[in-house]
Amino acid sequence: MNDVLVAEDLRKTYGDTAALAGVSLSVEEGEVFALIGPNGAGKTTLVRALTGTTDPDSGSVSVFGTDPQSADPQRLALLPQAFDPPERLTARELVEYYAGLYDEARDPEAVLAEVGMADADDTWYENLSGGQRRRACVGTALVNDPDLLFLDEPTTGIDPAGRRSLWALIEELADRGTTVFLTTHYMEEAERLADRVALLADGEVAASGSPSALVAEHGGRTRIVVETDADAGAVADAVAGTDFEVEASDGQLVVAGVEPEDIGDVVAALNDRGVAYESLAWKQPTLEDAFLRVTGKSVAGGAGISVETDREGEPAFAGGER
Ligand code: ADP
Repeated sequence: MNDVLVAEDLRKTYGDTAALAGVSLSVEEGEVFALIGPNGAGKTTLVRALTGTTDPDSGSVSVFGTDPQSADPQRLALLPQAFDPPERLTARELVEYYAGLYDEARDPEAVLAEVGMADADDTWYENLSGGQRRRACVGTALVNDPDLLFLDEPTTGIDPAGRRSLWALIEELADRGTTVFLTTHYMEEAERLADRVALLADGEVAASGSPSALVAEHGGRTRIVVETDADAGAVADAVAGTDFEVEASDGQLVVAGVEPEDIGDVVAALNDRGVAYESLAWKQPTLEDAFLRVTGKSVAGGAGISVETDREGEPAFAGGER
């Protein structure tokens, strides 16, 4: 596979803030690559550096084998996070306007149909739903039939139905062979869409790989999450006989390493010791867990467990070793 995008040791500082603190990554032709990070991680700065809209202080970017400013604009497209078209343009006028900016543009009708806007093409932007607005905006980025499409937080602020329709659209683009680089703080989005993800925190890529590989390597083990007023020690004592570890976490307790066939043993142990609990749920590790364990940070909007961590980013354990 060809790398269509390569970044090496990108650094960018604003005052005392290192927005990019040495980012290296590569994106292969045809893949969907997701950059995950909380607000302030450096995602937008990285997208801007990769697309040549900001100059890094140091490091290099290669797009299609050349620097971003020299890359063929017909082959590239960027939908910035803060893209705010005039409200009194219709979806059709918006797409037609952007089509007019290129020497070779696709038929706006075909683009509107592709982004699912054929039925609302004469509606003013201000009267479109959040999902329709964003799809119309994606349409503006598709008028030049790009080989490499950057989408900066494409579904932020959109309702769940709109988000799912955007996901289906991105999947169609990927199926057609478009290379997609997207940023998100929605773990579900990255897990569903991305062939590979990079976990970005404080301007650094903390880990990268396929979602499943990252979860397997960093996500921790299957677990039972117990909502209880009992303290970690009481729960650890209760399950001591079952040989599971108990992780102290924020408002919850986690019995780690519990496989499905072990659930009954843990429940029985808690009941035997009279440990009362509000709820008890068995969970598999997620990408959010991987992010938390690798970076020591939570990603806003994720549904992960907030485990207290020590300096090395390892979960703080209460209770015995397995
Ligand atoms: P993200 O997109 O992940 O939310 P950003 O790339 O927007 O992160 O920002 C990364 C860090 O750099 C933040 O601390 C942000 O405040 C800072 N930053 C970004 N752009 C500027 C700028 N133009 N001037 C000053 N600080 C900036």
